[in-house]
Amino acid sequence: MNQQQFESFTASSLYCEKCKAAMPVRERLLLVLPDREIFDYLCAGCGSSVGRREITAGEKLMAQAMAGRRSGRSGARHQLMP
Ligand SMILES: [Zn+2]
Repeated sequence: MNQQQFESFTASSLYCEKCKAAMPVRERLLLVLPDREIFDYLCAGCGSSVGRREITAGEKLMAQAMAGRRSGRSGARHQLMP
């Protein structure tokens, strides 16, 4: 039940304790694992790490599908549950 937290975590700005404000963040690929990728979020102001996010293979596929979705194809891909 941490939906709100999750949403703020995936936003493009996060609260930075050093800057004491919500700052824009840069996403940096930290680690690539067989089933997930771990991203580090760095404050654009001071460069300190303000968050971390794991993207599983399923999420990545979904993100790619969303990013690659251009005008045209209306047939949504079915997401297969593992
Ligand atoms: Zn900062």
